[in-house]
Amino acid sequence: MNPPTFLCPDCKVSLVDLNCPSCGATYESKNGIAILLPRDKKYASVVSIASFYDDFYSGQEGVWEDQGRTPQFIRYFADLVLSHAPNSVFEVGCGEGRVLAALSAPTKSGADLSWRACEKAEKSSNAKCFVATCERLPLPDASYDAVLSIGVMEHFIDDLEATREIARILKDQGRYVFLIHTRLTTAQKLLQKFREYLFPRPRLIALSKWIFKKLTRPSAQPIQRGYTIATATACVESAGLRIERIIRQNDAPRGILIGPHVVIFETSKS
Ligand SMILES: [Zn+2]
Repeated sequence: MNPPTFLCPDCKVSLVDLNCPSCGATYESKNGIAILLPRDKKYASVVSIASFYDDFYSGQEGVWEDQGRTPQFIRYFADLVLSHAPNSVFEVGCGEGRVLAALSAPTKSGADLSWRACEKAEKSSNAKCFVATCERLPLPDASYDAVLSIGVMEHFIDDLEATREIARILKDQGRYVFLIHTRLTTAQKLLQKFREYLFPRPRLIALSKWIFKKLTRPSAQPIQRGYTIATATACVESAGLRIERIIRQNDAPRGILIGPHVVIFETSKS
């Protein structure tokens, strides 16, 4: 793996030993994971969100497995990313690195708000990982062939700025493949849980695990906004990316996407 050249997230100047020669900021690292969060007050809240995710990832493994991240889903999503044989891939919100591990590319990197997640992701995927927020990526322009994110766009503080950053770090013709969970009404949420756990296949052990987790680890993730396909499309197009394909539940092989609210976008920088 080639370690990425890190830039100051605010000034976009190359760091020297994690020091910014332009603004004078010094960035730290924890257990070898560089913490490259912006100093800009607009993103002051990411520090507390990051500590939420550090707690979230410490002491539990396979955090997302009950959210549809099955091995079949990971293989399907990884193959979408690999369809144009990218040399370099970058995952925004890489979590424990399950998807990075499934990607074969000479250069792989990932960012997450949690350094604990990054540490796990490096071990499991052989990717270089670091702490960053997507609105201020510490990466050079036009440096990746493919960028991916899964269930991350809903968490962006400024979704247009974050998506513009993704467009910036993509090479020309580079692709951004991402998954979002579109907004559901309460009735649709109940119907979704019914379909996931009771009908047509009753999964009572999985259901009791889900209820137990809800009761013992009530993890209200800091979600910033809900999308429809139209609002997500508008954001991506405003950031200068072109939609190539939108994949809904019925477009994917059976059982890959857990509900009609899960949507994958394949986009490119043209
Ligand atoms: Zn700087």
